[in-house]
Formats: sequence, C-alpha cells, structure tokens
Amino acid sequence: MIHSFTDTPTSRAQAPVVRTVADLRQAVAALRAEGRGIGFVPTMGALHDGHLSLVAEAARDGFAVVVSIFVNPAQFAAHEDLSTYPRDEAGDVAKLTRAGATLVFCPGVDEVYPPGFGTTITVDGPSGGLEGDLRPTHFAGVATVVAKLLLMVRPDRVVFGQKDAQQVAVVRRLMRDLHLDDVQMVVAPTVRDDDGLARSSRNAYLSATERDEALALSRGLRAAQSAVAAGERDAATLEALARREMEAVAGLRVDYARLVDADTFSPLHRLDRPAVLCVAARAGTTRLIDNVPLTPGTP
Ligand code: AMP
Repeated sequence: MIHSFTDTPTSRAQAPVVRTVADLRQAVAALRAEGRGIGFVPTMGALHDGHLSLVAEAARDGFAVVVSIFVNPAQFAAHEDLSTYPRDEAGDVAKLTRAGATLVFCPGVDEVYPPGFGTTITVDGPSGGLEGDLRPTHFAGVATVVAKLLLMVRPDRVVFGQKDAQQVAVVRRLMRDLHLDDVQMVVAPTVRDDDGLARSSRNAYLSATERDEALALSRGLRAAQSAVAAGERDAATLEALARREMEAVAGLRVDYARLVDADTFSPLHRLDRPAVLCVAARAGTTRLIDNVPLTPGTP
C-alpha cells in the first residue's frame, strides 16, 4: 500500500515500508511527480547513528530519501555471520522515521534474487587486496546488489559511508564503468562513539572486554594521523604505528594495517597522494574494520 509522502516525519506514525520492486517504483514515481529529487541510502539494517548521518546527507536540497534494508546473502561467505546478523526492522523503521526518511524498501531475498537469477557483477581493481583477499566473494556480492538497487530505485543521489572505504572505491569504479555517472555519489564521514570506536552494526556482538580491546583500532589510526601531521610520509612507518597499538592488545588478532591509494586501493610506499590507512582485526569472533583518509597535506 502506498501512503502520502508529503507528510512531515512528526505528523505520521512511521515511514511507509514497501517490499516489492513494483511498489517501490510506484512510490518513487509518486515522489518524482511531486517534483522531489530522490536520495538513496542502501543498508543492511540494525541501524545506528552512522546510518542516520547518511539519511541526513541524502536529504539535502529537499530530496526525498529512500532507505533500503536488505541483508544481502551474496556478500556473506558460507562461514560468515549471515544467519546471526542483527535484524530489527520495526526498530529501524522507527529510527528512519525520526531521521526524516521518506520511504523504506525492505525486499525479501526472493524479490532481489528470484529463482533462476544468474547475473553477478565483478569489479577488478579496488576489489583486490585487504577485504578482497580475506573475503574473496564479498565485493562481487556488494557490486551486484548495489547495481541492482540503483536500477530499482534510480535515485539522483546515493550515499555511502567512509567507514567501508574499500566498498566506496569498488562502488565508485562500478558506477564509472556502468555509466551510472548521472547518479551523484556522496561519501559521508565515519561516525564514532565518543571514545573513538567506529559505529557498526557488528559492535552489538562485542562483550564489554572486547569493546575495550576494539578501541585499539581507532587509537592506532589516530597515532598514524598524528605522525602525518608531524611530517611522516613513509607508509611502513605509518602502518607500524597503527599495528603497534593493535598488537599491544592481547585479545586482538590483527588482519592488516595498510596504506592504500584512495581510488585504486593499491598499496602505497609513501603518502604522496590521497590515501586511506585501513585496519582490520578480530576481537573474539567479531571482525572489525576501520580507516582514516590521509593526504600529504593533512594537517
Ligand atoms: P551496512 O548496513 O553496514 O551495509 O552499512 C550501510 C551504509 O552505512 C554503508 O554505506 C556504510 O559504509 C555506512 N556506515 C556504516 N557504519 C557507518 C559509520 N560508523 N559512519 C558512517 N557510515 C557508516
């Protein structure tokens, strides 16, 4: 059922939810008929303030905001946390309503991947290395679902979080390669708790001890950032600073600390262009990733 989209967030009980591509398209067409631009935020739900910051970005210029909630099986490997991934649709819709989202798209798996579905999009270049090495099928799953969602919604603007820096690079490449250059891509900064921990749906898995241990990721990134401010440009030195903080915590297992080109995700020897220092570690069974964008001119 399609509701009116002109209501303000406070005057309606909750943002309308659609579950099929047909209803989504009808609702988006109604918004366009009202003269609204369309902003889009793809998510996997279990929403936190990081996600809600993307909604605010998408809403700029009076745009209507479509948010998708879809835990995409194609981006999880068999041994990963698909079945336990936190899910709270009612809570998410309430948060999105308060944040001013216009429409929530919650498709079932069969709606996105109907029986017989046979197309996968793979993106070379930034899909390699780091997460791509540790999760070899992950970015094909991400690229496929992002392309599908963009074709379903056909937004004017799509917003992603810097928190998933490699995903940003993969999607940027995908959008260039598939001529989706009429969709504005916005990257919003990482939202953190006051003590520095990057917000993540997976933080819900952490015990109090593991959460304390996880602070070493952002501490390491800050150490590297300070070194850059003091003039350090050597990649190995910056990586070692980040790694040292994480390795000092007995409970953490470090996957990587690597300085890469922000666009191609190729490893760098020196910070001589826009770059990202990426870290990943495991606290107990929970995998955590974080990063900080760095440029040679970073103060
Ligand atoms: P997810 O639900 O984890 O797939 O994330 C959906 C979107 O929210 C992605 O574009 C993420 O990069 C973004 N996101 C996740 N955590 C944060 C955060 N702490 N700050 C900003 N954006 C985030």
